[in-house]
Amino acid sequence: MDPNVSDALVAEIQTALGPRGWLDPADAGPVLTGWRGTYSGTPVLVARPDTVDGVQEVVRSCVRHGAVVVTQGGNTGLAGGSVPIDAAPDGRPSVLLLTTRLNRITSVDPARFTVTAEAGCTVEQVQQAAAAVDRQLTMDWGARGTATVGGAISTNAGGLNVLRYGNTRHHVLGIEAVLADGRVFDGLRALRKDNTGYDLKHLFIGAEGTLGVVTRAVLELQPAMPHHRSLFAALADLDNVTDLYGLARSIDPGGLTAFELVPEMGVAVAVDVLDVVRPIDTRAEWYLLARFSGSEPVTDTVTRFLNEAVESGYATDAVVAETASQESNLWKLRDELPPERLLDSRGTKFDTAVPIDRIPEFQRSVEAIAARLCGPEAVTFSFGHLGDGNLHVYVLPSLEHGGRLAPDLVGSVTAAVDEVIWELGGTISAEHGIGQDLLARLPGQKSQVEFDLLRAVKAALDPTEIFNPGKGAQTIERSTRSAGRSGQDEVEA
Ligand SMILES: Cc1cc2nc3c(=O)[nH]c(=O)nc-3n(C[C@H](O)[C@H](O)[C@H](O)COP(=O)(O)OP(=O)(O)OC[C@H]3O[C@@H](n4cnc5c(N)ncnc54)[C@H](O)[C@@H]3O)c2cc1C
Repeated sequence: MDPNVSDALVAEIQTALGPRGWLDPADAGPVLTGWRGTYSGTPVLVARPDTVDGVQEVVRSCVRHGAVVVTQGGNTGLAGGSVPIDAAPDGRPSVLLLTTRLNRITSVDPARFTVTAEAGCTVEQVQQAAAAVDRQLTMDWGARGTATVGGAISTNAGGLNVLRYGNTRHHVLGIEAVLADGRVFDGLRALRKDNTGYDLKHLFIGAEGTLGVVTRAVLELQPAMPHHRSLFAALADLDNVTDLYGLARSIDPGGLTAFELVPEMGVAVAVDVLDVVRPIDTRAEWYLLARFSGSEPVTDTVTRFLNEAVESGYATDAVVAETASQESNLWKLRDELPPERLLDSRGTKFDTAVPIDRIPEFQRSVEAIAARLCGPEAVTFSFGHLGDGNLHVYVLPSLEHGGRLAPDLVGSVTAAVDEVIWELGGTISAEHGIGQDLLARLPGQKSQVEFDLLRAVKAALDPTEIFNPGKGAQTIERSTRSAGRSGQDEVEA
């Protein structure tokens, strides 16, 4: 990297953004490392624009000086997409663009059921703005206080309410973004219907910062749901979850807003190291944490669901949260999974979705792989969004003794589990994206046609690859998908 080029770039951005608009990387601390501590990088500058014009200035300066841009919101992403890089793979210097000063809610419109927010607003900030006008933003997950609107859009984040309201894509009505040539794509229409060609906003949703910098969005709100009831039930057997899910959905088709799986080992650790109270004395290997919501009281619904679940032999015991503190205890337990203590022991992690009826088979297969490759102490710690078929799974060397899985074991466990995921018709990334973390694994999931299309979109919007180079699905050139899983495209590949 030519130091003169970097110096000129840095000086130009510093002048354009003013003294509060940038940080020296030496003083930037946590923004240089990802949430899980796996990746870090040092850009030539950390830019903190607080206007769309400022974002344009940064992008244009980078174009002029042959530099690249990594955009970061709350840095809670779990695939390494938001972490700065020292330089692009071809050596171009990199600038980290933080959106956290783009943090204004431009308008809240209860009549239209919309909110317009800048990309750096946190999800919780928008939730609170919606609640103040008797509406709700139903995007919600544990990192709500730090994750941003731009990050949620760029990862197409899922979370706790997906089965009722869909993932982030379903909440986005309009997007504004700064493009690779510095122009602004103004797609901020608050319309539910607009069939005037390709719906371009969708390109930016789930793009992981590789097609532009999202600066603002119009998000759809829902009516406030005044009545909620959360329940925690000990499951008789994981094999029954599909029937249990069918029961919950049929008892109140629109009212089931969360259906989460919690393992006993998660409860035990949460009770041990966090300020969480064990919800029920009955011990089971698995628990269900579910919530029903409605405009009318849902107490009868919950009672009927639990009675039928026990009578059918799906659940052995249950509790319904009666007070706000019981409710928050249940959701704190879920938000804190997996407790840091487990992460510390560093195994390998999967963010998997399979069709919900394949969940028990998937769990048993991973347990068998862990035991076969890592020995009898190995633990498969699974939890997550059961209603979406989305389990977060850690394979750990042991629960009690910490330790790390050796790198070759991480590789062989990952390869074996990925094969199971694909055989069951699943995906290796349900909601966290590809970032840097899953690049080596993705070639086995998608066909050559899919990679060709992804690269064509990238080439159309960011031909010189200035946005987040080296990250995301579109960087992959060749599919390694085997003939057994292939579609018609393999015939031509
Ligand atoms: C405790 C915890 C719980 C979580 N639970 C869930 C969950 O249930 N469901 C789920 O889906 N995720 C979950 N996540 C992951 C994470 O919160 C989401 O991926 C979130 O959307 C990331 O938002 P962020 O602002 O932190 O984005 P970042 O981490 O800063 O960035 C993520 C990606 O988006 C890009 N990006 C960020 N802002 C912009 C922008 N304005 N324009 C263009 N690109 C941008 C980055 O370059 C990066 O590729 C969880 C994370 C934690 C730490």
